[in-house]
Amino acid sequence: MFGLIGHLTSLQHAQSVAHRLGLEEYAAQGLDFWCSAPPQVVDQFTATSVTGQSISGIYIESCFLPEMLANRHFKTATRKVLNAMALAQKQQAMITALGGFSSIIFENFNLSQLLQVRDVSLNIERFTTGNTHTAYIICQQIIAAAQRHNLNLSHSTVAVCGATGDIGSAVCRWISYHLPQAKLLLVARNHDRLQELQAQLGHGKITALNEALAIADIVVWVTSMTQGIELHSDTLKKPSLLIDGGYPKNLSTLVQHPDVYVFKGGIVEHSLDIPWQIMELVEFAKPSRQMFACFAEAMLLEFEGWHTNFSWGRNQITLEKMERIGVASQKHGFRPLI
Ligand code: NDP
Repeated sequence: MFGLIGHLTSLQHAQSVAHRLGLEEYAAQGLDFWCSAPPQVVDQFTATSVTGQSISGIYIESCFLPEMLANRHFKTATRKVLNAMALAQKQQAMITALGGFSSIIFENFNLSQLLQVRDVSLNIERFTTGNTHTAYIICQQIIAAAQRHNLNLSHSTVAVCGATGDIGSAVCRWISYHLPQAKLLLVARNHDRLQELQAQLGHGKITALNEALAIADIVVWVTSMTQGIELHSDTLKKPSLLIDGGYPKNLSTLVQHPDVYVFKGGIVEHSLDIPWQIMELVEFAKPSRQMFACFAEAMLLEFEGWHTNFSWGRNQITLEKMERIGVASQKHGFRPLI
């Protein structure tokens, strides 16, 4: 069995989901309530590969909300992640994906030092961030989006916002290797980390956000922002393609211009329906088939019997691993959403 640990995108989202599920007493509650709510298994399902193999899984709602970080409830946020991981392990999940902010919290707060959760000793080999598959899918989306809009990638300018992050650095590595002639712009806040990345890549120009947006043909947005950013189309090159890989989605739907094309980054579509309810809660167009690539990674590891933390740590995603998970992704019937 595999596990998925997820969370909703905001307090408002959590309240509207509770309302939709008929849980009116939850819908009326504020952040304090969500801070004290324990993790819960809210869905159980079977997923079938195009190879015919079936696996069973559970979805655990961690009850973490991004506002907990914004309001500096750091201890609560870490407790949410650790408790959800302990629940996955108690439920005997052989491999569990840490969706959205779960893996970011794990890394930022050094939770590898806190693996004893009451009576559960967390076995980190049973958890994956899902970031290798996410990075692979975003790179496939770059290719597909460029093809759709007749953009020659070799001569284009690609800005990666969140370049020094786990997913962003993997995307930069892939661009440096596969598109050596493309102009790569590296965007993040911490200059030392940007310089370190640039030295590792031997490629890419450190660029301020607004400067990058004004000249990029493709913008890959993979920052760890707790709320989306409102981009004004005036600041963007026309035409340009925006691949929004963040969760919550980093780019507001307010970016509306006929020559600016926004793609949902890091999302896959499966070839067969999965009888689950969870993806309806995050408003996918085809909730029985579409999902976050990090969740799909846990499924792939379960299908393949790779019960190991395939994606772990920060900035350690290799091109070989992206290739390997990509082969498994195609084999089992997943494709990038475009
Ligand atoms: P990391 O924490 O590893 O990296 C975040 C990056 O964003 C860093 O480069 C950071 O650098 C940069 N950043 C943070 N805030 C800002 C800001 N305000 N302006 C500019 N840059 C910023 O995150 P991950 O790579 O693990 O995840 C990235 C995103 O992808 C997250 O939104 C996450 O939820 C989402 N995600 C999506 C998945 C999917 O399946 N679709 C799976 C997993 C994650 P600095 O701090 O120096 O600015």
